[in-house]
Amino acid sequence: MQIVDRIFEPYIDQKTVENAIRSVANRINIDYENQSIVFLGILNGAFMFCSDLMKNIQLESDISFVKLSSYQGTKSGGTVHELIGLMQNLKGKNVVIVEDIVDTGLTLDKIFSMIDRDEPASVEVATLLFKPSAYKGSHIPKYIGIEIPDEFVVGYGMDYQGIGRNIPAIYKIKN
Ligand code: 5GP
Repeated sequence: MQIVDRIFEPYIDQKTVENAIRSVANRINIDYENQSIVFLGILNGAFMFCSDLMKNIQLESDISFVKLSSYQGTKSGGTVHELIGLMQNLKGKNVVIVEDIVDTGLTLDKIFSMIDRDEPASVEVATLLFKPSAYKGSHIPKYIGIEIPDEFVVGYGMDYQGIGRNIPAIYKIKN
């Protein structure tokens, strides 16, 4: 499949994505039994994962979003920009940050620094995809759907130059 100037090949099918989401949701349902959660979705990429994850959550839960950006093309730019800030006070809440993919971990570090001043009761991270070999942050996600090598992917909420977020499965770039 061509997106803008690059070719992408099928990588993770829809069934595998759905199974990974159910397994993450089940773990959260167990770990937070009888408690409530605020999910904090990171726009734009995590919108689809947030939606499918929450449908599998049986706990009392709310959702809030922040919008951050570090990626230019297929590489992290190294600096994370805050485009839409935190609109909800998280004091005393159990927060689960929801990411589409954790790569260098710089975005996560920035989010932790944004929400720590609110003094939440707890903060954990749920991510659909995790690239352990690219990671250099200080907050390893507790809930990981699928670990992948350091390859650029699109689909299921993730884009290449703004395109591809609507694709229901995950594709990887062909070098
Ligand atoms: P990090 O700050 O961990 O390096 O990157 C986090 C953000 O970069 C993700 O939320 C996502 O928006 C973007 N990103 C990281 N890796 C990929 C990738 O392989 N494909 C796409 N489309 N976006 C990615």
